Amino acid sequence: MSRSPSLPDRPTLDIDPESPPDEQLEALREHYVNISQVHEQLEEQLETTEQRREELREELDQVERENETLKNASLYIATVEDIFDESAVVKQHGNNQEVLTDVSPRMAERLDVGDRVTINDSFAIQSVLDAETDARAQAMEVDESPTVTYGDIGGLDEQLREVRETVEAPITNAGQFDEVGIEPPSGVLLHGPPGTGKTMMAKAVANQTDATFIKMAGSELVRKFIGEGSRLVRDLFELANEREPAIIFIDEIDAIAAKRTDSKTSGDAEVQRTMMQLLSEMDGFEERGEIRIIAATNRFDMLDRAILRPGRFDRLIEVPEPDQAGREQIFKIHTRNMNVADDVDYAQLAALSGDVSGADIRAVCTEAGMFAIRDDRVEITMADLLAAYEKVTTDDEEESGPSRAFA
Ligand code: ATP
Repeated sequence: MSRSPSLPDRPTLDIDPESPPDEQLEALREHYVNISQVHEQLEEQLETTEQRREELREELDQVERENETLKNASLYIATVEDIFDESAVVKQHGNNQEVLTDVSPRMAERLDVGDRVTINDSFAIQSVLDAETDARAQAMEVDESPTVTYGDIGGLDEQLREVRETVEAPITNAGQFDEVGIEPPSGVLLHGPPGTGKTMMAKAVANQTDATFIKMAGSELVRKFIGEGSRLVRDLFELANEREPAIIFIDEIDAIAAKRTDSKTSGDAEVQRTMMQLLSEMDGFEERGEIRIIAATNRFDMLDRAILRPGRFDRLIEVPEPDQAGREQIFKIHTRNMNVADDVDYAQLAALSGDVSGADIRAVCTEAGMFAIRDDRVEITMADLLAAYEKVTTDDEEESGPSRAFA
């Protein structure tokens, strides 16, 4: 924006009335010359200002016309894929149609590859949307300092040892890996039934390493953000870079990394793109600093083998339902802050509950507390726990499936 030029100084005339007339005449002549020069300068300035006013009026007209079009027409959403001098490739969301469209110089200045934009029927870009922070916030859960510790996790000693070795050690003891000359795995995949402590393990590692915990759920990514999956994956890694050390936890990775099917719907293509973005982020991983990736799935059988190749999720850790000793430990963990009667026999509880998950056990403990409260007691007895176990497992059966309700 050009500024108004400053005005020239106004000439002044000081005539001594006592001076001789020819001196006074000379002073008047000089003053006249000065005034004429200032007049000329002012005329020039006026002309420039008028020109500028004309330009501004034209700009205003154009903006008003654009504004009208924007108000009247429904617009489509698209993502900018590539930018050239006076054109750009945009991909329309929904049908994934890619189009090369002209871009006005004014718009070109504001565009970046990856921007979400609105386009009209003729694919002309109308405006740049600013919703990415929003989408980020909805799709990701960021916890600067999770509070879960290894001591909160029961019955997964072997799995914890492996996670610590492959995820924690490369962050806390990177030098040792350098000295030995091996690359720590980029990603670790935890697989097993729901509610068995996979998320807990990822949070506990983040806690132990003072890393930011960033969680993204594969299913959410695919359901809510059609057309944005690959961009969100990019955002996810960018965010991790900003916050390193960071643990990226991708839950339900099967939603974006399922085996390829024959169907060719645009939804499938979109999921494929999201996965390709994830793989490319992981492949470019060496340059990244203290970022580790943990993914989790309940559907290991469905995974595309491409994600299990070396350098990607090449360390697979099975997280099973807890065994007798594990169940006993989990019962103890979840009742440790409760007022428990002496008659509670943890070994017996663990023996009773055949194939339950850690999440089920937590639900049993909470339910037992509810029984005590309903009975107006402050102490939880073995009878409460047994009744709660009965209730939780019956509810489970009625839901005819794994105990998602308690996860
Ligand atoms: P999902 O596959 O459904 O995401 P998950 O395996 O990630 O499940 P978590 O979210 O870690 O399971 O566990 C859910 C809750 O169940 C935890 O918050 C915790 O209270 C309890 N829990 C599960 N497993 C354990 C365990 N091994 N020790 C202690 N508590 C557990």
